[in-house]
Amino acid sequence: MIPGFAARLGRQALRLAQPLVRPRSHGLRILAYHLVSGGTDSAVDLDIGSFARQMDLVARLTVPVTLSAGTERLRVGEPNLMVAVTFDDAFANFREVAWPICLERQIPVTLYVPVGFVLGEQPSPLEGAALPALSLEDIRSMQETGLLEVGSHTWTHPDLRSTSLDLKHEIVDAASLLRSELGSSVSSFCYPRARRSADAESMVRSCHRFAVVGGGAIASPRTPHHRLQRLSLRRDHSLSVRTLNSAIVLEEALANQVRQLR
Ligand SMILES: [Zn+2]
Repeated sequence: MIPGFAARLGRQALRLAQPLVRPRSHGLRILAYHLVSGGTDSAVDLDIGSFARQMDLVARLTVPVTLSAGTERLRVGEPNLMVAVTFDDAFANFREVAWPICLERQIPVTLYVPVGFVLGEQPSPLEGAALPALSLEDIRSMQETGLLEVGSHTWTHPDLRSTSLDLKHEIVDAASLLRSELGSSVSSFCYPRARRSADAESMVRSCHRFAVVGGGAIASPRTPHHRLQRLSLRRDHSLSVRTLNSAIVLEEALANQVRQLR
């Protein structure tokens, strides 16, 4: 684990170096959100004004897509910068706050659902925040708009590097349940807290067409479909035009390395 001081120094240096990263006018930028105005102290709980401004930017400057559509369009040479907005954890808060903002701007969303949480078997995946989950019925009604895509976020939202897990239950069974309840279009997977192991990765590949990981790079046609990097949005990280189209967000790349070590 990198000590706090070194990490702060590293972040500062990366912030200064970020303008040197070349901007990209094409490719697929994948944004990762959790909560908007959820009433928690969490760093991933954004205020509604910031989120609405970020979605304005996405609608104005990019082609908004679902994760699967964006990845397919990369292959056929989409000339513009695409953005896939993704939301993790399936909190009821998503439908109340963020979804209407996205709908109004016709921005599709890929929602990563932890099965045990929406079935009422598991507590909130966000530690210290006892938030309610969406129900399967809520998710179905959002799917009817044609703007919501569902992806798997395991069954119990564990650290997939743990050796004592039932990986089949977390990865294969979770995908099967989601497909039987919410349709066969469930094609992508999101690692809880972006932590993964080689075993988990090979199982994910066996039953999903796409997977998202940490990192902060814009995906290109050469990016492997099971290593699509996301940029995680936090309170202290406002989304600017520069961040949106930087080929890689250095600070996020560092955060991802630290996440794998912890
Ligand atoms: Zn999660």
